[in-house]
Amino acid sequence: MAKKVNNKKASDDQFNRAADLIGLDEKIRLSLNVPDRELMVEVPLRKDDGSLESYRGYRVQHNNSRGPFKGGIRFHEEVDLDEVRSLAALMTWKTALVDIPYGGGKGGISVDPSKLSPLELERLSRRFFRAINPIIGVNRDIPAPDVNTNPQIMAWFMDEYGMINGHTPGIVTGKPVELGGSLGRNAATGRGTAIIARETANLLNMNLDGAKVVIQGFGNVGSFAGNFLNEMGSKIIAVSDVNGGLFDPEGLDIPLLIKHNEKNKTIKGFSQGKAISNDEILNVECDFLIPAALGGVIHKMNVDKLNCKVIIEAANGPVTPPADDILFKKGVHVVPDILTNAGGVTVSYFEWVQNLQQFQWSEDEVNAKLEDKMVAAFHEVSSMMKSKDTSMRMAAFAVAIDRVAKSFELRGV
Ligand code: GLU
Repeated sequence: MAKKVNNKKASDDQFNRAADLIGLDEKIRLSLNVPDRELMVEVPLRKDDGSLESYRGYRVQHNNSRGPFKGGIRFHEEVDLDEVRSLAALMTWKTALVDIPYGGGKGGISVDPSKLSPLELERLSRRFFRAINPIIGVNRDIPAPDVNTNPQIMAWFMDEYGMINGHTPGIVTGKPVELGGSLGRNAATGRGTAIIARETANLLNMNLDGAKVVIQGFGNVGSFAGNFLNEMGSKIIAVSDVNGGLFDPEGLDIPLLIKHNEKNKTIKGFSQGKAISNDEILNVECDFLIPAALGGVIHKMNVDKLNCKVIIEAANGPVTPPADDILFKKGVHVVPDILTNAGGVTVSYFEWVQNLQQFQWSEDEVNAKLEDKMVAAFHEVSSMMKSKDTSMRMAAFAVAIDRVAKSFELRGV
């Protein structure tokens, strides 16, 4: 079972260390680390059988010095205020790192959506969006998908908001393309992850072509990342989902596996590969290990068993801070979440811009702009890493915090 890492203590620790690195003023540090606003709501749900349930929902707005709050909404049993707080802060640093004009926010409902019928899920989503309506807005706070939420849920959110405020496509991103979603948004986090893996391979003089890659988590992010890395010539030797893993030292047939996964909603039962457990997959010898599911999967108790050269954090917070320190000492290169998975929010930004312009860009245009943003951020982080002789995570935080601090100071209090 993953240890919960997305807690404010862990993100505070990363923030404070990076703030030390850039010599951030004590008072500014205090202001930047505390969320601007936190909303906790009760979300009642009438079940299909007529009974009543009640869930807890959250929206935390961490910082908007650089622009409207931005970040996803997750539906997961483990969601609580502390987790949402820490993920909201990560969004502030992520949007700053890729230099898009947003702050950071996050939201969620503490619910296991797999236990709801489609109609219950719709009612719950709409009710939640109505509950957070007072604090969101197209120039104020723009939600998006995250764990267990998807374009359909964004469509319900947009519709619900529109009924109160009038049609406002830019109120959420990650919408279906038919409703003003951006081409390329669905694949964006996985595409960005593959771009970052490619840049990392260049930086470390590794060859991506033929590199052995392990992907833990085969949802939206993991499957697209696997697909792009496969196209770049890497060998995806192991993948997993909640039901377990598959291992083939010769490389799995990723296009076929994606088809199987689309049809069966799991990789289980695929014709190729040996079944391995979710613990074993992390120990498979490889060049790149890509955790692409939930936070906290690599921790103090299992970090010594890892057998990879590089970890590319496609999930938010997959490596706990103590495990991160151990990996740094061992020379295992960890590419942080706020850089690796920033492709999603970057294309969310492009979607929002298209909505404001009431104009649709081509997929090639979106992908080219995404490539530019990811590569620029990667190079800023690697030069900070060299100049401060630090880890890539600290360098990424340093670049981001410095940017937010500048905007904060320019605005004044
Ligand atoms: N949930 C994604 C993230 O953690 C995307 C957020 C967005 O597009 O606003 O970055």
